[in-house]
Order: sequence, then C-alpha cells, then structure tokens
Amino acid sequence: MNERLLKMNSTAHTASGVGGCLNETMSPTPLTSFIALTLLLATAQSAAAIQTAPSAEIVTGSATEVTVTWQPASVPQGTLFRVTVTPDAGSVDQVTGVFADERLHFEPGLDGSLVALAAAPIDTRGEEDLRLEVRAGEGGSETMVLPVPIVEGDYRMQELTVAPEFGRPQPAEIQERINEESARAMSVARRSHDTPRMWEPPFVAPRESQITSGFGHGRIFNEQVTSRHMGTDFRGAVGAPIRAPARGVVALVDAFYLGGNVLYLDHGGGLVTGYLHLSEHEVEEGEIVEPGQVIARVGATGRVTGPHLHWLVRYGTITVDGMSLLELE
Ligand SMILES: [Zn+2]
Repeated sequence: MNERLLKMNSTAHTASGVGGCLNETMSPTPLTSFIALTLLLATAQSAAAIQTAPSAEIVTGSATEVTVTWQPASVPQGTLFRVTVTPDAGSVDQVTGVFADERLHFEPGLDGSLVALAAAPIDTRGEEDLRLEVRAGEGGSETMVLPVPIVEGDYRMQELTVAPEFGRPQPAEIQERINEESARAMSVARRSHDTPRMWEPPFVAPRESQITSGFGHGRIFNEQVTSRHMGTDFRGAVGAPIRAPARGVVALVDAFYLGGNVLYLDHGGGLVTGYLHLSEHEVEEGEIVEPGQVIARVGATGRVTGPHLHWLVRYGTITVDGMSLLELE
C-alpha cells in the first residue's frame, strides 16, 4: 500500500500568516513498521485464539478465519489510516471497534471485507491497541486486541512572531471564551460519530495553492509559548475560494476568538473538517455541500499575521494531518 511520507515546508513563512492553533507537545520515539495479522475468529464452541504474530496461519474446527490489515503499514503519528477486516472463508456480518478512544465505523469494502477509518493521535508513542469485535454467522462474536505500532511523524520546530496580545497568557475571560469555542468545535467532532457516512474518496483539496505551513510542526510564539500547529495552512488572498473536500453537512458557522470566522463540515462516520480565518462563508448551517463546492472565502480573521486558510481535519476528537485525508483512495 502507499506508504506515505510527510513532506512539508520546514522553513518559516511568517509573511503568509499564522493559524489559530491548539497546544500540544510530544517527544516522539522512532519505531519499526508492521505487517498484516491473521486472526482467528472463534465460533461459540471454540476457544478464543487470537494470533498476534505476523502472517500467522490458524485454522481449527469450525472457526472462521479473518485477516486484519491496516494501511499504510506504518502509521505515522497524527495521521488517518484504514483498517480492513477480511474473512478468509465465509463471511463476516459485523465488525465494531475502537482505536485511541474513538469509535470505528466499518462499512462493506471489496471482496466481502469490511473497512473503517481510524486516526493515530500526534502524541501517541510506541503503539496503540486496536480493539475489534467481530461477528460472523451463528458463531457469536469475538473480541480482538491488536497493538498497532505508531511511527514518528516528521514534525519540526518553527519560530514565529505574532501580535503581542496573542503571545501573552490570555486574561481569564478571554481564555474562558477560547475554551468554550474549542469545546463547541469538539462537540461537532463527537457528534459526527452519529452522522451516517457521507464521504467517499478521493477527497478534494480545499485549495490548490501552496502549503505555507504543514501540520504538526512545533511553534514558538514570541520566544515564549510552545504549541503545535494542528492544521495545514494554504496560501490565499482575501476572497480566494475554499472548496469542500467531500460531501458533508455544514455543522458550525461562527466567529471565534483565535480562529476568526470559522466553518466546520461534518462528513459523517466521525470525519470533520474545519476552515479558519475566513473572510466570508458561502453556505449556512444545516446545508448539505458537495465535493468541490465553494463553501467559504480566505480571510485574515482571528489569530493571523496575514490572509490564509487554516484547514483542520478531525476523526472524532483526534486532529490529524489533512494530507493523510487527501491521500486516501
Ligand atoms: Zn494554521
């Protein structure tokens, strides 16, 4: 499968503006990559036998064998990846699962397999358990716990200067507002798990323009505050168009303290995209948007030094690199 590399601009583009970003820190640990696992889905009578060695083969009694894979094989911190459950024989009726505390939504894929999107948080170190419950035929369900190795993302540090009022600690009432707005955006992300999936790859880039600052880079604001850039900045003049990457419903349109004019799309199945610092929006809350539709215009509202689009992608409450969304096939 396509193993992705994080290739982003490492140099500072202070003239192009700074997005409103959430704080996160991490000390990454390099890890090795991984392989597909063959697992045993036991029926009611047979014992639970879960094989965790790579490329194992197990077939006993009336058990149903399934293969669980994920792509890319090496999951970098802060990216989306795909989990596939394939029955080696027979069929699998239903798979439910959880990864990094977010629900997985399996849907039919090719060859009788079931496929779900999952997200590795940027601060995950080592591995994270993939928990699946697989139901096949009359055999009941089987619970599986598979450790997914998470590899280090290629994230760098960047030093920036912004207007002093954004560099200093916020007064309590401003901080309260920021927290409240952040909670509202996160509640959109949580609710997306209950929205039926509306998206279908491939995804459309919100802008065709240059990326001026990639996802995940550490930022030092005014030599004081360290934060992590939890989005992708696209170049654009005020008024330049921003397009929906996929079908979705407009879940939130508002003016935030840090993000300025913001718009969030709920694509369903846990997937949410956000658009910050807008000059205007072209769609209203509750409206359904189609892939490629112009939804808003680039602006310079909120915490910025110039006009640009700060684009964020979330799976549930996990903010991930939008490039990993655009690479999904
Ligand atoms: Zn940004």
